[in-house]
Amino acid sequence: MAEGKREKAAEKSCAADEKKGSPQGGGAADQEHLKKIPDPLLNWYTGNRRILPWREDPAPYRVWISEIMLQQTRVEAGKAYFQRFVKELPDVEALANADDELLMKLWEGLGYYNRARNLKKAAGVMMERYGGRLPASYEELLELPGIGPYTAGAIGSIAFGIVRPAVDGNVLRVVSRILARKDDIAKASVKKKIEAELQAVMPQDRPGDFNQALMELGAIVCLPNGAPKCEECPVAELCRARQAGIQEELPVKKPKKERRTEEKTVLILMDERGRMALSRRHSRGLLSGLWELPSFEGRLSEIEVRQRLEGKGIPCGEIRPAGQAKHIFSHVEWHMIGYQVRTETGSGSQSEGCCGGRDEGQNQGRGGDRDAGCSDDPVGSWDAGRGGALHIAEEPAVYLRDVEERRRREAEAREDSAEFSAETLIFAGERELADVYAVPSAFRGFREFFPGGGR
Ligand code: SF4
Repeated sequence: MAEGKREKAAEKSCAADEKKGSPQGGGAADQEHLKKIPDPLLNWYTGNRRILPWREDPAPYRVWISEIMLQQTRVEAGKAYFQRFVKELPDVEALANADDELLMKLWEGLGYYNRARNLKKAAGVMMERYGGRLPASYEELLELPGIGPYTAGAIGSIAFGIVRPAVDGNVLRVVSRILARKDDIAKASVKKKIEAELQAVMPQDRPGDFNQALMELGAIVCLPNGAPKCEECPVAELCRARQAGIQEELPVKKPKKERRTEEKTVLILMDERGRMALSRRHSRGLLSGLWELPSFEGRLSEIEVRQRLEGKGIPCGEIRPAGQAKHIFSHVEWHMIGYQVRTETGSGSQSEGCCGGRDEGQNQGRGGDRDAGCSDDPVGSWDAGRGGALHIAEEPAVYLRDVEERRRREAEAREDSAEFSAETLIFAGERELADVYAVPSAFRGFREFFPGGGR
């Protein structure tokens, strides 16, 4: 479910919870206790906050992008993504008009791709209704795609000084520990209650700093999974969990439903030029619309892979095992085995899809080092370079704009195709993988076999 929808659904569920009765704890005593938090917290934040690009220039657009990006991404990992995103798409108008392929490329590796799609949808709404600006109203922010109470509170307070809390997992943990609450923080009613309590104690003159200070405390001091750094905590004297020695037992969070497991056989299918086959995923559902390594359901043997590929009219040379990988999504785990497969595209008819004359001409205009993906020299081999670190191309959009039309046609042709076929595969070299195609991080376990070692 998209972030905003999830948050909005949580609101409804909360109303239902509240009818059943209020969660454990609370009351006037807790509210009084929380009033003591802002002063020491803000003093600490002033001297200890991390220098982050969106904090140093908290323009509404930048705050919005950073908040959406950081919902499922660590701050350190998010910095480079953020810088690249706002460089390519510096304002609401640029985002509203962004090419979908570029958007996915900018989001590649962050996961939860609907967040990026919702950003673009919301930008479209801002163009229509608000003159290309974020609305300076909590209620109007809440109406935008992908924005729920947390995000509206964060943007509203940081960018516009609106006095609204922004309660995320960090804040739930911190408040649960300060108050030694044993309520299940996965419940919408518990979140709602904490929102109301924080709303009542937020300083009117620094709502953005207050929200960020709570989040920051949760991120770098009041840590999850293991011992919090209570000795560094500005509110240690006020923390009931610490006083009771139960800080590591809190917060209480009911385990999620078990994920289902899917077995997959993933192919690193290389043509004679060392380019790798990609297949477009369905336009709906998990990783919708992204490019992936072609795969079969189940764990297939080498012989079965050969039979299945040849049954599709894809000629196979040597097939080699490429190890195993696992990727965990929120509701499903992929357990994958991989094979390196050498295929022959023969006449090169497929390679025209990737390396037609247009690219070659464009590359000439950009200097000779941009054509690695379309070179006649093999750029991938059985001994393709090792590595695997995520490569962030410096200027993907420059390359993307040139091939925009071709990408659009490719996308239309492949949309909703079932399993891949000889006709729906495209072959991409190192440069195109770096600059054009957004391959989900689910396949990162096989990157060492990509052209150029997946750098
Ligand atoms: S004292 Fe420890 S448990 Fe309590 S809020 Fe601070 S870091 Fe968290």
